[in-house]
Amino acid sequence: MAILVLGGAGYIGAHTVYELIDAGRDVVVVDNLMTGFRAAVHPKARFYEVDIRDKKGMDALFEKERIEGVIHFAASSQVGESMKEPLKYYDNNLWGTISLLESMTEHGVDKIVFSSTAATYGEPERIPILESDRTEPTNTYGETKLAMEKLMGWVSQAKGLHYVALRYFNACGAHPSGAIGEAHDPETHLIPLILQVPNGQREKISIFGEDYPTKDGTCVRDYIHVCDLAQAHILALDYLMAGGENNVFNLGNGVGFTVKEVIDVTRAVTGHPIPAQTSPRRAGDPAQLVASSEKAKTVLGWEPKYDSLETIISTAWNWHRAHPHGFEG
Ligand code: UDP
Repeated sequence: MAILVLGGAGYIGAHTVYELIDAGRDVVVVDNLMTGFRAAVHPKARFYEVDIRDKKGMDALFEKERIEGVIHFAASSQVGESMKEPLKYYDNNLWGTISLLESMTEHGVDKIVFSSTAATYGEPERIPILESDRTEPTNTYGETKLAMEKLMGWVSQAKGLHYVALRYFNACGAHPSGAIGEAHDPETHLIPLILQVPNGQREKISIFGEDYPTKDGTCVRDYIHVCDLAQAHILALDYLMAGGENNVFNLGNGVGFTVKEVIDVTRAVTGHPIPAQTSPRRAGDPAQLVASSEKAKTVLGWEPKYDSLETIISTAWNWHRAHPHGFEG
């Protein structure tokens, strides 16, 4: 029996496929290559270029492969774009998942672990954030992910689907082998953008807002290594296979770093001065997002290995230095 990874050519999906294959699992990958890269797919995974909204294509796959569980990363994930193109996000994220669940239920596949996000909380009521805290997304991306979570709940009641939603905080870093890493086009995330400076692709980094109510005025985020996220997906799938109930888990390190602290650590890791300039706030950015991941630790037995920002940024630097153009050269 195989594990089906949807969006397995994307950043977190590709790292999860590497971890699954390292753990000796049989893996099938589906990706429409809209934002993912064929070169990111592990050579031992069976790859299908299919869009999850293509019901016939997904039906054919479920008929051909024997799938015991699904890990679902196939979604659009840029907050800024989601505010400009909300319909694209409802179509790809929500409609894509509706079509997928139709196909899964018709083929008797009843276990799914899927990417959710800290963006489901919106402006947090308190720090660290617990899974039971208020969810009021401030952007379309978070809204579609929350709708996906609710959709799973209703389908579970009606059709016996078993699901785990994993709410990620700030995914970062790269596979320690250097084989795969983060590559987005356009890049919008802080750590890869900072690393473009020592890589000679950008003169300076912009700090989006220095007047937040935080210790140095810049936004605080919880940075979690992509391989730790990948491990959590495997644990969550095993939990469902062992009969675990539907659940939602935060995934973060539980430690917040300001934008200025991230820049300082990157200076230390790369030995580059990395000039920075203050820019206006970015719309929709909460001042602080820090997870409580106690539930994932207690229930799933998850223990992040990369708990220092230096190590996380070193793995990212290792990848970006060797692949300044990502998977395209
Ligand atoms: N950020 C920044 N400059 C940049 C990119 C991001 O100051 O060029 C800030 C952003 O405002 C946020 C933090 O860095 O406070 C992390 O942003 P990112 O886009 O990496 O992740 P997000 O928290 O939006 O998921």
